[in-house]
Amino acid sequence: MHLLKTFARAYPLQSAIMLVALLVAGLVEGLSLTALLPLLNRVLVKPGSLVNDAATIAADPRSDVGNALLSGIEAMGLTPSVELLLLVIVVGSIMKGGLVLLAKKKVGYIVAQVSTDLRLSMLRAMLASRWEYFLHQQVGQLTNSMSIEAVRAANAYLYGATLISQLIQALVYVTIATMLMWQAALFSFLMGIIIYVALNRLVTMARKAGKRQTTLTKLMIARLTDTLLSVKPLKAMGREGLVDTVLASETKNINRALRREVVSTEFLAAGQEILFALVLVIGIYITLVKWELPVATVMVLGFLLSRILRRTGQVQRSYQKMAVSESAYWSIQKTIKKAERAREDLGGDYTPTLEQGIELRDVSFSYDAKKILDTINLNIPAGSFTAIIGPSGSGKTTCLDLIIGLLQPDSGTLLVDGVALMELDMRSWRRMIGYVPQETVLLHDSVLNNVALGDPGISEADVISALREAGAWGFVEKLSGGIHEIVGERGGKLSGGQRQRIMIARALVHRPRLLILDEATSALDPQSEMAICETLRKLVGAHTILAISHQPALLNAAERAYRLQDGHAQLVKGVTE
Ligand code: ADP
Ligand code: MG
Repeated sequence: MHLLKTFARAYPLQSAIMLVALLVAGLVEGLSLTALLPLLNRVLVKPGSLVNDAATIAADPRSDVGNALLSGIEAMGLTPSVELLLLVIVVGSIMKGGLVLLAKKKVGYIVAQVSTDLRLSMLRAMLASRWEYFLHQQVGQLTNSMSIEAVRAANAYLYGATLISQLIQALVYVTIATMLMWQAALFSFLMGIIIYVALNRLVTMARKAGKRQTTLTKLMIARLTDTLLSVKPLKAMGREGLVDTVLASETKNINRALRREVVSTEFLAAGQEILFALVLVIGIYITLVKWELPVATVMVLGFLLSRILRRTGQVQRSYQKMAVSESAYWSIQKTIKKAERAREDLGGDYTPTLEQGIELRDVSFSYDAKKILDTINLNIPAGSFTAIIGPSGSGKTTCLDLIIGLLQPDSGTLLVDGVALMELDMRSWRRMIGYVPQETVLLHDSVLNNVALGDPGISEADVISALREAGAWGFVEKLSGGIHEIVGERGGKLSGGQRQRIMIARALVHRPRLLILDEATSALDPQSEMAICETLRKLVGAHTILAISHQPALLNAAERAYRLQDGHAQLVKGVTE
């Protein structure tokens, strides 16, 4: 029920419209139902009629709500003829149908909105989270939340809304029954509650099965994505069978949870059927044999009793379905809340220009307890070409992440033109950076989109010229689709060196003030590397270049170089500023 409250709070207007439409629809239905009673009266009170018992109830002014309707019609100056009563029933049904349609349309809209909102909030929260937090997220878990959980969460809303509409209808029947004969209404209501409590264990069981599905699916998709991303070495070494074993056992666990869900839902439906029949038989026995009420009375009461029971039964089944899907909603909410708590600080409002340079002053940084950088000092003058060299694991990439502002130092300061990085407007700072990462993973898209990244400010001509500068135009031109050629999953249709050149073009295309290359030429042959060094040398001056490299070519091209080792930085080329 907490879920319904949450939804109502999140979509107040839509929920209010839905609720009002359902309430009015319930009233209209009640009205047309009561019109049936005087109609019965008319038909059954005919002289010589065999079954005039029903008329006893219908004509009894104390219990006959139908008579109130008749007086209402007469008060409006109309004759309550059979035709008019039939008309009331027809108009009532049409109105009810229209209102229910309106309510259902609202429900449908909110369902679509729920999944869309959940997806967008999660995506935004994730992208706005701190880098260290983001790094620890499993891609598969996010994919799972975006696809499976969002749909299940929206379904939870759908079942919740259905539950409310069924509850309202049940209340309408209870009200009519109360007006007809309150003892019968009370009896059906109590029976409904007893059956509800008796079968509630099946709801709990379904809820547990739903929770297990949520947890297991999350695990399975996370593992699946993880493995698929590194399937090549597994296949190459004939180890893909291991993946099969793990995934098959997880899939079987999910299957078990699904079966428990099926068992609980089917048992609930069957249990309700049996108990309803039992209650009905008891009711008929008491009224007909013990109390010796007339047959027609028993018929009318039986009709109302079965209606009330059926509706309360539907309410419980919808509740059960909601309980199954509910955990998906809370799971996404948890992911969103956690990501929101890990929101990154986007700095101050100082807009950087990078006129003088970047300085790392006594900067220290550790991952958990492991010290990576120990009071290092780096100077990267604007317009210079600076290289950082050092053994693998010495903290070169970490250094770049600090400069980009993805990580914060434990102590010391990073300065851009003498202003602390924390005071810069982080978004404008990053928009000045062209970044070529160590991993060459491209988007499964065209060369054009891989370079322009969907930026409308970048034309095809800009992309081609960036590709030329990065030494990629030669091979892109020869692709059958040219710059529109799809590069395959993670760029798999291109060689490592070709992917690297496309990444370099991507970094160059928006004319960055600061170009950062993290071992960006490691997969290139000496000739391609020379070409890129040539490009970089032309860019120096207008751009500031910071490159990590092991290759002598880049080191030669650079005018300054630092060596990182054992947490310390040492200037090995160029002069101290
Ligand atoms: P380099 O780029 O010089 O090869 P990195 O800067 O990537 O080195 O990493 C420096 C050290 O920090 C390595 O020993 C690595 O294991 C560790 N490291 C890198 N990233 C993380 C992380 N997210 N969490 C914990 N340790 C990390
Ligand atoms: Mg690195």
